[in-house]
Amino acid sequence: MNGKRNNRLLLGILAGIVTGGLAGGLYPEAGLSVKFAGDLFIRFLMMIVMPLIIAAMISGIAKLGDIRNLGSLGTRTLVYYIATTSLSVLTGIALVLLVQPGKTGLQSSRNSITQPEAIYRIEGNGIKLERGALPEGDPSTFSLHLLDRNISATITAAEHTDRSITLHTSGWKQRNDTVSIRSGTGKGVRFDPLAEQRFAKEQRSISEILKEMLLGLVPSNIFKAMAENDILPVITFSLLLGVALSMSGEAGKSALSFFNGLNEAMMKIIHLAMYASPIGIGALVAGRLGEAGGFNGFWPELQSLGSYALTVIGGLAIHSLVTIPLILKLFGKTSPRTFALNTAPALLAAFSTASSSATLPLTIECAEEKNGISPRTAGFVLPLGATVNMDGTALYEAVAVIFIAQMNGITLGLPELFIIFLTATLAAIGAAGIPEAGLVTMVIVLRAVNLPIEGIALILSIDWFLDRCRTAVNVWGDSAGAKIIDVKSPAS
Ligand code: ASP
Repeated sequence: MNGKRNNRLLLGILAGIVTGGLAGGLYPEAGLSVKFAGDLFIRFLMMIVMPLIIAAMISGIAKLGDIRNLGSLGTRTLVYYIATTSLSVLTGIALVLLVQPGKTGLQSSRNSITQPEAIYRIEGNGIKLERGALPEGDPSTFSLHLLDRNISATITAAEHTDRSITLHTSGWKQRNDTVSIRSGTGKGVRFDPLAEQRFAKEQRSISEILKEMLLGLVPSNIFKAMAENDILPVITFSLLLGVALSMSGEAGKSALSFFNGLNEAMMKIIHLAMYASPIGIGALVAGRLGEAGGFNGFWPELQSLGSYALTVIGGLAIHSLVTIPLILKLFGKTSPRTFALNTAPALLAAFSTASSSATLPLTIECAEEKNGISPRTAGFVLPLGATVNMDGTALYEAVAVIFIAQMNGITLGLPELFIIFLTATLAAIGAAGIPEAGLVTMVIVLRAVNLPIEGIALILSIDWFLDRCRTAVNVWGDSAGAKIIDVKSPAS
C-alpha cells in the first residue's frame, strides 16, 4: 500500500470513528442498529486469524535460513516482552500510588448508594472487616444486611486491630456468610452480585494457574484448538511444524511452498479487510456506544470512576507516548512518529474491537507492508505477542488492584507491591487477546495480595472502555517489538 493510499485509509478510519461515535453517542438506537456491521467485521478478521498464524509462522521460520536463528529470535523476543511489560507495570504502580484515585473514590463511595462496597465475612459472634472500609459515622447507628436476604442486626461495639475491624453485634446467628453494611442515615453502599457470579469460578491458586498455562501451550487436539481460536497451542504446533519442515530438506519443500502460498493468499484477504475497516471500525464504535446508552449513559459511568479511569489512561499514555517511542528510537533506529502513523489502522482496529487476536491480521499487514518488517520476524513476534505480550493489560491490572486496595482503605507495603508487580505481569501473559480477558485474570493478582475479589465490581462499569484503550497499547507494544527485534536480527 503506497503512502497516499495509506493516508486515505487512515482518514477513512478516523472519519468512521467520528461518525460512528457521534451516531452511537447521540442516537444510541441508531448505534445499535449498525452494530451488526461491526460484528461482521470482527467475524471477518477472526476468520483469517488461524490460517494466518499457521501460514505466517511456518513460512517465517522457513525464511530464517539457519534454524539456529530461531533461538536468538526467541531470546530477543522474550527479553523485549519482559522488559517492556515490566516498565509498563512499574509506570502503572508509580502513577496509582501518586494519584491515589481510590482515596477520592472512597469518599464518593461513602456518600453514594450507587457504589458497590466490599462485603464482609461473619466470624464467630462478630463481623470481621478483613479489608473493608467502614462507612463514616458512629458504628452503633449502622445496620447490617445479609445479602439477598432480609436479615439485619445492630452493631454493639467495634474493635479495631492493625488491619481489620471486628464488629460485635446483637442477635446475629449466621456464620460464614456475607453481609453488606449501611450507615443508619441510609448512606452506604450496595454489593453488586454480578461480580460474585462472574468470578466465582476463578478461585484457583497461583501454582494451579501456572500449571494450567503450561498445559495450555500444548494442544491435545490441534483441530480443536483451531476451532476454538485458542492461539497459543496453535503457535506451539506451527513452530514445531515449521522447524520440522525446514529440517526435512527436499521432502519438506512442497509442504513449505504450500504454506508460503497460503501466507501470500492470506495477506491478499487482509487487504480486503483493510478496505472495509473504516465502516467496520465506525460501526463497532457506534454499536458499543449504543449499548452504553449513548453519551448520556456513558458519561456518568466515566465520571463516577473519573480519577481511576484517568490514572489508567494516563499510565497507558506515558507507556505508549514516552517509553515505547524512546525504545523505538534507541533500539529500533526508527522515527516513532512515522512508525505510529503506519501502525495507526491496527491501533484503531484494536481500540474498536478490544481484541488483540482479532486485530492480528491488520497488525501483521501494517508491520510488513507499511513498516517494512520482515515476514520472518513479524510472523513469529506478532502472533506470539497478541496473546503473551500485553503491556496495556499488565499496567491496567496493577492500577486496578491498587485502586481496589485504596477503596478498601488498605495501604500496601513494598512486599505486596512487589507481588502485584509479578502477578500483574503473569495475569497479563495469561489473558487471552479477547475483550475484557484482563478483568478475569485480575483475580490472580487480587488473590495474591489477599484483596477481596468482589472489589472487581467497583470497576466493572467502566471496564469496556478501558479495555479498548489497553488493547490499543497491547498492539502498539507488539508492533514496536517486531520492529526492534527485526532491526537487531542478524539475518536481516
Ligand atoms: N482485550 C485485551 C486484548 O485483547 C485483553 C484485556 O486486557 O482484556 O489485548
